[in-house]
Amino acid sequence: MGNQGQQSPIDILGSYYVPDFGDGKLKNIVWNDSAHEVQGVVVQGDHGLKIEFHVPTNVGLTLNGKPYWLKQFHFHHPSEHYIQGELRDVELHIVHQNIVTNEYAVLAVMIQCASRGRVPAMFDGLLECLSDMRKANCRRSTEPITIIPSEWLPTNIDTYYRYEGSLTTDPFCETVSWVVFNHSKKIGRKRLEELIGCFGHHARQLEPINRRFVLRNFD
Ligand SMILES: [Zn+2]
Repeated sequence: MGNQGQQSPIDILGSYYVPDFGDGKLKNIVWNDSAHEVQGVVVQGDHGLKIEFHVPTNVGLTLNGKPYWLKQFHFHHPSEHYIQGELRDVELHIVHQNIVTNEYAVLAVMIQCASRGRVPAMFDGLLECLSDMRKANCRRSTEPITIIPSEWLPTNIDTYYRYEGSLTTDPFCETVSWVVFNHSKKIGRKRLEELIGCFGHHARQLEPINRRFVLRNFD
């Protein structure tokens, strides 16, 4: 990509404190009030486990004043982004897309194994669905799965990093606004390991930051 590219993932080493991004901060994530739930299809593809949603979904977010609709959930093990030179156990990518420009907004949630940790209710549903798919030897779930996206966010979403980057899988389009949450989500070790065993979606190597800045909204 030369030294002009803006690829992802990156190691978030230096960042600049910006108290207000002028876009209502992340409270502007519009998890539509009437639709806490969304129906998705579980896909076990060549590039790992995904949960796909039919866009436009009834769940989305607003970033830089633009609307993006929830499109897909997928996982990486270990994390793709580093924070201050450190990896996390798992990184969940909650992919959103603008249906006019096709640009993406991806929320990156770091997930850490914990000796104790609340397991999202949807976790059991997902593992059960994967087990049924294995038994039936199919790579797409026949029944839709119900997802409550907010269950997958860290408890504290008030602090985060923002930067402009790319998809981390082919075609690596440089049209992604990244939001990387500062706080990790903690999930009990046993359950998380069960899930890790299912997704096999590995992390892309780190890419150079080049001429970009990473912004953060916390001091
Ligand atoms: Zn990803």
